[in-house]
Amino acid sequence: MIQVNLKKVVDDTYSIDIGKGNSPKLPSLLKKLVPAFRYIIITDSNVAKLYGKTFLFHFEKEKLNASLVSFRAGEENKTRETKAELENKILQHSAGKDSVIIALGGGVVGDVAGFVASTLFRGIPFVQVPTTLLAQVDSSNGGKTAVDHPLGKNLIGAYHQPKHICIDTDFLKTLSQEEYVNGIAEIIKQALIQDEKFFLFLEKEMEKLVNRDEKILKTTIEWNCKLKASIIEKDEREIGPRKILNFGHTIGHAIETLSQYKLRHGYAVSVGMVAESLIAKELGWLKENDVQRIENILKRVKLPTRLPKSISPITILKKMQLDKKSKEGKIKYSLIDKVGHCEFNVGVENEIALRCMRGIME
Ligand code: ADP
Ligand code: ZN
Repeated sequence: MIQVNLKKVVDDTYSIDIGKGNSPKLPSLLKKLVPAFRYIIITDSNVAKLYGKTFLFHFEKEKLNASLVSFRAGEENKTRETKAELENKILQHSAGKDSVIIALGGGVVGDVAGFVASTLFRGIPFVQVPTTLLAQVDSSNGGKTAVDHPLGKNLIGAYHQPKHICIDTDFLKTLSQEEYVNGIAEIIKQALIQDEKFFLFLEKEMEKLVNRDEKILKTTIEWNCKLKASIIEKDEREIGPRKILNFGHTIGHAIETLSQYKLRHGYAVSVGMVAESLIAKELGWLKENDVQRIENILKRVKLPTRLPKSISPITILKKMQLDKKSKEGKIKYSLIDKVGHCEFNVGVENEIALRCMRGIME
């Protein structure tokens, strides 16, 4: 018998740079941080129109070899077909192993471009340049890349960590308020699961954050990214602690799917957080006052706190049972036991979940 010894020590360390006006400075930074013969910028049709030319220009100014490829914007295009089309275009640009992919866009771009980078030439480096608030505080950080399948979201993908994340708050200026608020839901979640001080800060500064006050925005993104990074460092593959990021998502994800994605991720997670906070209250973990605080902050941002009429608690329960989160009958949740702390793998009786969801019907 031949033994192939392949014990590995991997260093996937990456940096996150947060600030206003960061993206024009990115090419010169990449020369040192992620050198490449060619940079392939992947983006979607909306972001290409808004920022494509200028972004490419910054690379040319630094005399770097760069090309831009794009696909039609929208979650419905986060598919294997789009991935294949992008791969064709990239190979036609005669890109080689010494290329680096840059994901310029929201979560959809980050997920597809990261997945392309994970398999092209058996894996090449990539850099995240998130342009939505949701992508800046959540999806760009942590190495999850994927495309959707008709049977579900993110079913085909890989863990592939970026080499660098460039967060430029200037991108947010063109983002609609609806998309902006979508990101605030995840920020509130991050505070609730990990850091009461951050939650107090959000309670104090929420109006400024909603109005995109530059200083508050930067502090918030920084605080949020630090918290999330501390979880990724502990558990990249979501075997344990990373599961706390799913607070509000067990119910939220079912609502999102049942709405056929008409309800945006953050909006569905907002309702999910209220429902799951009520479950935590039933378990004797949260006080009524905590649930009120959570509902209040969500309302101040104009995030929903009630189940849409068209989606019944029983259909949500059935959907959750189909999800892989349900092992041995009981559905497992990530639930906060106080503001700033979260437990994972909490089995909850279906009757309790139903009762809590019925309590917040529109
Ligand atoms: P996510 O909300 O997960 O980041 P998307 O990648 O689908 O999801 O982005 C949401 C929408 O916002 C898409 O239509 C995308 O093209 C658009 N978009 C992304 N960044 C910006 C921006 N900075 N300004 C305006 N629209 C943007
Ligand atoms: Zn989420």
